[in-house]
Amino acid sequence: MALITLRQLLDHAAEYSYGVPAFNINNMEQGLAIMEAAKAVDAPVIIQASRGARSYANDIMLAKMIEALAAIYPDIPLCMHQDHGNNEATCMTAIRHGFTSVMMDGSLEGDAKTPASYEYNVEISERVARMAHWVGASVEGELGVLGSLETGEGEAEDGHGAVGKLDHSMLLTDPDQAVDFVKKTQVDALAIACGTSHGAYKFSRKPDGEILAMSVIEAIHKKLPNTHLVMHGSSSVPQDLQDIINEFGGAMPQTFGVPVEEIVRGIKMGVRKVNIDTDCRMAMTGQFRRIAEQNKAEFDPRKFLKPAMDAMRDLCKARLEAFGTAGHASKIKVIPMDDMAKRYASGSLAPKTN
Ligand SMILES: [Zn+2]
Repeated sequence: MALITLRQLLDHAAEYSYGVPAFNINNMEQGLAIMEAAKAVDAPVIIQASRGARSYANDIMLAKMIEALAAIYPDIPLCMHQDHGNNEATCMTAIRHGFTSVMMDGSLEGDAKTPASYEYNVEISERVARMAHWVGASVEGELGVLGSLETGEGEAEDGHGAVGKLDHSMLLTDPDQAVDFVKKTQVDALAIACGTSHGAYKFSRKPDGEILAMSVIEAIHKKLPNTHLVMHGSSSVPQDLQDIINEFGGAMPQTFGVPVEEIVRGIKMGVRKVNIDTDCRMAMTGQFRRIAEQNKAEFDPRKFLKPAMDAMRDLCKARLEAFGTAGHASKIKVIPMDDMAKRYASGSLAPKTN
């Protein structure tokens, strides 16, 4: 059993200058694909479940699945993370079901749609961090609202995302405010807004500094060199995956994601967790379409799912290699959550903000 907390994993990533992709799951096949990739390249992994995933799969199913994945792959440090928790209850029930880490996204109110005030965000994130740390679990906060700098809109995914036009200043995290936020909330990792958005339709052209503000990451890292930064909406939406879907009967309009080389640049500037969901979905769905088109007599779901898992495994493997995560699993000695709780209580894990 090698369930690791986000805090320990990202501390290790910072020490050895690498990033860790966080892949979303809803089902067994995605979980197996991620773990196969991790095993192939000796990488630790972050698996995350959104509220949408929890209602799709059921909490007990997810909890048992994580337990099973940890048992099947005992040598792979596995962090189980709640993606975009909208309130205290979402975060606490995740921990109760065996998650080692939660995101309290207080950039939006509890409805997961309305942009929240800074005061609201600080208050709820601080409260969740305090409760989670009592049991040794880690907390990711978010400052700034995710959305496109091209359209000024957020992208709702799994029922989560800002609705309506957003002011440019909300779409870019303010570095000074970030320092204040980490100080007040004591979060272990900070998700920042820099022009990325959820889903496949992030950019209408290959992004430049106008629409993907890597400079914001650099500025935050300068002020908060010891804080683990998180990039959301960081699928690359590779052209070959778009092509496979469209070649076999799909109709995805041309779109652009976050180039892998930009993420690698971000990792050099303190990004430690990189959220990827769309790419995994596209890798699988492309194979469903291909099999359906090429073998119209096929009716065994496994004949669709096996190539889909293989495609997702290859995608995950490529990201683990590109982000430098590969080769680190065997170097990590997992600290149990109870020990992490003691370290929080002693103050030794308090964020260094100056
Ligand atoms: Zn996100």
